Amino acid sequence: MKKLYITALFSILGFNAYTQENLNCIPQPLNENQQLDYNIKANAYHASGKTIDINEVRYLPLKIHIVSKDDKTGGLVKKDINEFVSKVCKYYRYIGVQFFISEYNLIHNSTFFDLKNPSSDESLMAEGNDSHQAINIYFVNSIKDDENQCEGTFGYAYLPFDNIKSTRIVLKNCAVVGDMTAIHEFGHFFGLKHTYNDEVNNLGDRFIENKDNCDIVTDGLCSTDTDPGANFTTPNWDRRTCTFTEEIRDRNGAIYTPPVRNMMSNYTGCQQEFVPEQIEKMKEGLAVRGMHNSYDFSASSTNVLEPSELSATKNIYNSNIITWKDNADNETGYIIERALIDSNEFIAIGGTTPNETTFIDNDVNSDRVYKYRLRPSNSSQPGPAFFLQDNTILNTEKINSSYVLSPVPTDEILNINGNNIGDKLNITISDINGKVLISTQKSMLNEGINVDLSSFTNGPYFITIENLKTGKIEELKALKK
Ligand SMILES: [Zn+2]
Repeated sequence: MKKLYITALFSILGFNAYTQENLNCIPQPLNENQQLDYNIKANAYHASGKTIDINEVRYLPLKIHIVSKDDKTGGLVKKDINEFVSKVCKYYRYIGVQFFISEYNLIHNSTFFDLKNPSSDESLMAEGNDSHQAINIYFVNSIKDDENQCEGTFGYAYLPFDNIKSTRIVLKNCAVVGDMTAIHEFGHFFGLKHTYNDEVNNLGDRFIENKDNCDIVTDGLCSTDTDPGANFTTPNWDRRTCTFTEEIRDRNGAIYTPPVRNMMSNYTGCQQEFVPEQIEKMKEGLAVRGMHNSYDFSASSTNVLEPSELSATKNIYNSNIITWKDNADNETGYIIERALIDSNEFIAIGGTTPNETTFIDNDVNSDRVYKYRLRPSNSSQPGPAFFLQDNTILNTEKINSSYVLSPVPTDEILNINGNNIGDKLNITISDINGKVLISTQKSMLNEGINVDLSSFTNGPYFITIENLKTGKIEELKALKK
């Protein structure tokens, strides 16, 4: 997953680097009445003494609106949506929130597909489509005048106020994979403002926030310095490394450290974290939303038959291969969750398409032992945890094996390659129950040995290779997909 993510991120940066800011979302400030109402509810939350405990996970429903053209083309695919759900679950566990898909809704309308005038067309798009029991996510091709899909505004959202409108988050299809816009927009949804200030356009304005006014200016939080925002003509700023190349001081001589890696900054491609004060602010926003009357989050989760034959094994490239048998016909795909073996903090690491029965976890640390579980993306019920098998044995095998199996996973033809050219080998392939499916004798060639697995069902297989010259027997695992 990590590799994929980085590639996607880089392609977005490569496209935009130094030319255009692409996270141009500015949430409407609350009006006076809305702010008053927010303050009353926030005060009630704090006065109750019942702060949000992140160990009591709340599953919030998402109604996913996929907007496509009049001819029904161009809409987002479900795998990408599950990647999106996985990503928001990963970050919002910090406030004890996970998400599930309560409903899919398809909107075929070219005007909304390229949402040129959100201020007028958003409500038309949402009419008859909004759910009053879920967060409404609208995926469109472009927002405002950004015909070019991966430029310009990537999404926008609303601060908490007591109206169905504030449950909408509009995202560009382009922002779904390998980009932090969705996380940023949910930040607004839970009440966070930007760490940059529209009135701050250059480094000369960096003293706008100080200890006496930090609870009022910009985002109203004191642990995030006002940053200079979208001004990428800023000197000393290296967008590739997300750092200032020189020390910058404000006019009082203090070192100026804008939170360029903050999720609510405007430093696209650098956003990766929330500070603790933001986490607390979002818990407050969540509590305030719980007190609103014009909507709630009561949409129900789907009952999905649990998958069986759950298995996690390591391949010779040190990836963990997760496989399962899909027993359901109503799941919208699975969210894969992972925890360290001695922890119960499961973190979403990816999503699959419906009916998929394999997930490859490439982002593993070989010093750690993991456990996994699956949750249908339309359900709030995670399945049982299951463990990585044979961790030690396979680690050793990776170091000592004389052979390389490719591709991983294997599609039709499995190639076994080794440097013992000319040696005669006894090759046995058996399934996970030990049943021998292929037993053959072949000589190692320069290009390796090909074995046809096309008639095999998907899943892990054991390959035993006996070198008849040296007598050495080795066992490897292959995954058929
Ligand atoms: Zn924003």
